[in-house]
Amino acid sequence: MPTATATPVELVAPDLLPYRDGNTGVDYVHCLDSGRAGPDAMINAVIHGNEICGAIALDYLLSAGLRPHRGRLTVAFVNPEAYFRFDPSKPTESRFVDEDMNRVWTSERLDGGEDSAELRRARALRPFYDRVERLLDIHSMGTYSDPILLVHGLDKEIRFARAMGYPATVAGGSGHIEGRRLIEYATFNDPADDRIAVLIECGQHWAKATADVAVDSVLLYLTALDMVDPGFVAEHQRTAKPERQTLLTVTDGYAIRSDDFHFTKDYKGLERFAKAGEVFAVDGGEELRTPYDNCVLVMPNHRAVKGQRVFRLARLMEVD
Ligand SMILES: [Zn+2]
Repeated sequence: MPTATATPVELVAPDLLPYRDGNTGVDYVHCLDSGRAGPDAMINAVIHGNEICGAIALDYLLSAGLRPHRGRLTVAFVNPEAYFRFDPSKPTESRFVDEDMNRVWTSERLDGGEDSAELRRARALRPFYDRVERLLDIHSMGTYSDPILLVHGLDKEIRFARAMGYPATVAGGSGHIEGRRLIEYATFNDPADDRIAVLIECGQHWAKATADVAVDSVLLYLTALDMVDPGFVAEHQRTAKPERQTLLTVTDGYAIRSDDFHFTKDYKGLERFAKAGEVFAVDGGEELRTPYDNCVLVMPNHRAVKGQRVFRLARLMEVD
């Protein structure tokens, strides 16, 4: 198992230039309309420019003939400006151009007077997010964690996660430090509104298996919406659907407070601590302990520095 400091780039970022001219009036956004009634659904890749698994999955599936048999499907390569800066010799450096594009989704930021590459692109894409009924936002992680479907924690999201049945772990709650994620934008976050957005963390950014999870997340998202031919899914699905899903509720996010932080082990994420009081990290000499029984460490960030979020903690709710 490679460690957090040795991360080989096994995936190859596909050329997205052929996708520049879409049919929606916005570059790198395509609408596949079946011409039949059905869901108005969307799939996002590369909102973070160096998380290339989503681009690989959409490039592969579109090339293989992915088309909805009902409703319409919008596919977006969200931050191509960052994506085109991806360099396998410096793979961490193209997450964004000016700022994290998955933190800007408030009306204050989007309607405000600030300017950045990501705000400009978010403003161009905003009409899609104001319209679509379902959204899958594809991401990846810094460690070799098993995949996680992240939702805000609303009942409608949990029901949809169950309908997808993929991946094995679903985590609700934000553990937020700052800003708003796209899945929390506007009516996606309103329990009284039917619109639903989910985010999948497919695995380590550049591991081969991560692209397989990205492909299957697209296929099983569209299967849950009854938008894709089951024969197409059977032909292209790469991993097994889990027999059961585990539900976590994120309770805490933690930002590093000192210049001397370390985890007690090289955790990759989703480690489960049976008892409260177990030490799992040390920050400026202070031991950090699990606050409750059945506590799960989510997405430890071994590259974080003082002031940045370094992990989330989640309560194990149920195993379905
Ligand atoms: Zn991401």
